[in-house]
Amino acid sequence: MAATSFDDRDGWIWLDGKLVPWREAEVHVLTHALHYASSVFEGQRAYGGVVFKLTEHSERLHKSANILGFELPWSVDEINTACNEVLKANELSDAYMRPVAWRGSEKMGVSPDGTKPHLAIAAWPWGKYFDPAKAAKGIRLEIAPWRRPAPYTAPVHSKAAGLYMIATLSRQHAEQNGYDDAFMLDWRGQVAEATGANAFFVRDGSLHTPTPDCFLDGITRRTIIDLARKRGVEVVERTIWPEELESFEQMFLTGSAAEVTPVGSVGPWNFEVGDMTRQLAKDYDDLVNGRIPNA
Ligand code: PMP
Repeated sequence: MAATSFDDRDGWIWLDGKLVPWREAEVHVLTHALHYASSVFEGQRAYGGVVFKLTEHSERLHKSANILGFELPWSVDEINTACNEVLKANELSDAYMRPVAWRGSEKMGVSPDGTKPHLAIAAWPWGKYFDPAKAAKGIRLEIAPWRRPAPYTAPVHSKAAGLYMIATLSRQHAEQNGYDDAFMLDWRGQVAEATGANAFFVRDGSLHTPTPDCFLDGITRRTIIDLARKRGVEVVERTIWPEELESFEQMFLTGSAAEVTPVGSVGPWNFEVGDMTRQLAKDYDDLVNGRIPNA
């Protein structure tokens, strides 16, 4: 049986200030965002009824919209409240949440002048982002045919829908070739991130992660850096070239959806699912579920 389409479900979606029945949360075909990618979004998870780092996500949504030149008429506090209302209305405790903001259909044309900002927030139960059986052995990543753009060619620090065009193409290419996801280099050829998650590498007990100067500095990424440092692990943010992947023992991805996912291989380079990866995955799981890591 086909999975239920996302426009045909029971429940409530918050749309421009009020909860509306799920099937009625619609936009017009002549919406600026659909034609010109003037859309930004968030992805966050609730654990036991509490959205992890909710304020950071709502703040990033504001920042993403600002980078794209528009201002959300709802404050961070109002967005936080709306997210909690959505969880409650849908009687969800563990869920994935998707706030999305976009320029509407008030005007059509490249110029955004005269369009209004809109905001919707939906939530649904969502299990692991990657198949847990594959994640247990480490997922397999293809080197993407597309590269993360330079900061002077795209608004790289906004979580903007337009940036996912090459992520979707890369993911599709990877899946068609039997991989679980794609791993993207940046425009210089340096190691960057996966299509929807940041990357970490382990060598000799230290953690290495590329400097996020042309891709998202993920909220999970920063959480993992904190958790590792609390354990006394050295964390090095720096330029990483693909040739160096040969020398790393472990690799994992981080993201609100992906959480901590072990990687088994990237292109020709192989990694083991080791103790550091398992420990940080557990620390993250403890933290998001309200338990004290390392207790
Ligand atoms: N990079 C990309 C391209 C992403 O889509 C995500 C998921 N939002 C991340 C990194 C990780 O960000 P976060 O940890 O804030 O979810």
